[in-house]
Amino acid sequence: MSRLVVVSNRVGDMTASTQSGGLVTALGDALRDGNGIWFGWSGEVVEEGTPAGLNLERQGNVTIATQPLTGEEYDHYYLGFSNRALWPVFHYRLDLADFDAEAANTYHNVNTRMAKSLAGLLAEDDVVWIHDYHLIPMAAELRKLGVENRIGFFLHIPFPAPEIITAVPHHEWLIDTMFAYDVVGFQTEQDVQNFGRYAEQTAAVMTPETHPFRTAQRKLKVKCYPIGIDVDAFASMATTPEAAERIRHLRRGTISHHVIGVDRLDYSKGLPDRFRSFRRFLEMFPDHRKTTVMMQIAPPTREELTAYSEIRTELEQLSGAINGAFGDFDWTPVRYIHRSVPRDVLAALFRGSNVGLVTPLRDGMNLVAKEYIAAQSRQDPGVLVLSQFAGAAADLTEAIIVNPYDADEVAAAIHAAITMSLEERRERHDALLQRIRQRDVARWRTSFLEDLRAEAA
Ligand code: UDP
Repeated sequence: MSRLVVVSNRVGDMTASTQSGGLVTALGDALRDGNGIWFGWSGEVVEEGTPAGLNLERQGNVTIATQPLTGEEYDHYYLGFSNRALWPVFHYRLDLADFDAEAANTYHNVNTRMAKSLAGLLAEDDVVWIHDYHLIPMAAELRKLGVENRIGFFLHIPFPAPEIITAVPHHEWLIDTMFAYDVVGFQTEQDVQNFGRYAEQTAAVMTPETHPFRTAQRKLKVKCYPIGIDVDAFASMATTPEAAERIRHLRRGTISHHVIGVDRLDYSKGLPDRFRSFRRFLEMFPDHRKTTVMMQIAPPTREELTAYSEIRTELEQLSGAINGAFGDFDWTPVRYIHRSVPRDVLAALFRGSNVGLVTPLRDGMNLVAKEYIAAQSRQDPGVLVLSQFAGAAADLTEAIIVNPYDADEVAAAIHAAITMSLEERRERHDALLQRIRQRDVARWRTSFLEDLRAEAA
């Protein structure tokens, strides 16, 4: 079989435990099977003028190939264009987007430089799988260097409606580069449709004769590949003796309803709206006050950016205000933890919680929703309350689906979840478990790679 070359902004650690999650779990086996290469940024930031050497390291039979970024590249490519322009726009937050020509230029240049380094490593029949919004133009840069290998791209975040994406200055340049791929994968059918509409209405490389998805050079396969989790691996973390001990600890005392949320502290996750919804729940259903607690785990992320420090302040104020207004000597309604928590601990907390509250304002997929389901006991499962704007909602229709902007609706959903009959909880959970098993991470990986390895149509 052809060798797999994975490209992503950050490379994973192949020596880490398979239970660590992320792309290592998702792609580890495919890389190991074929002596693969994983190429990306090393995470280091070096001084201007430092030679951008390629560092090659063997981890088992996988080659990890990394390069540092300069301070200027980090500021403009990573923080600037990727996270101050593309991330907010692709999550429908034009109000937070900052378009800076220098940042866009550096984004392009870093992709060019990375492509040059990667091209030197490629053998003729390698297949290249590029990930996410930091590296959209990479295939176009590789093509300029004469690379004719099969190249695929998977976008982990949403692809927004064309009405939104056309707000990005020079969006034609950026989105046209997606036509240099052989396969472009999205999380949901909605993303596929948005891309299709953009291609039809705006893409300069497309003409009525060439649409759908064909340029003079190549035919593009555009498809939805919803990412999943390793269900059994996650479930087994929730059923260890240590997990049982944690659950016992969580449940001791007078609290009968545990509501849990786990999200990076990102504005796309809708955390202030979630806190306001929980406040509404306490107002609307006073009988449940002293017996319900919401635990929110929200590890820090991208703290150098203003939008992220602002949301941190907002959340601290909200949790303080709720606890001040409603709390009592023997009850703190909101437990807010601004730290990263290991996944095995999360698995136990999910299993010990009656309600999983996953209410992003916009999310590519949301794996926490799937992990919450995997962690539940089949005999006595908790209930998932899920935003209609998470990619996961397309499949997980037996969750209680909510509009995260509607505090009354989310409050009512929390109430419905904690009062739901055992029979209904089991029915919903069985259906959801089946769904996440059908579309697990192995299926995501193999279906994308099958399409990528297939001969050009
Ligand atoms: N996660 C974790 N510790 C934390 C918070 C999250 O290990 O404190 C993990 C979580 O279990 C999940 C991933 O990080 O596997 C988050 O993925 P998701 O798709 O939900 O959101 P993203 O952060 O990718 O936007």
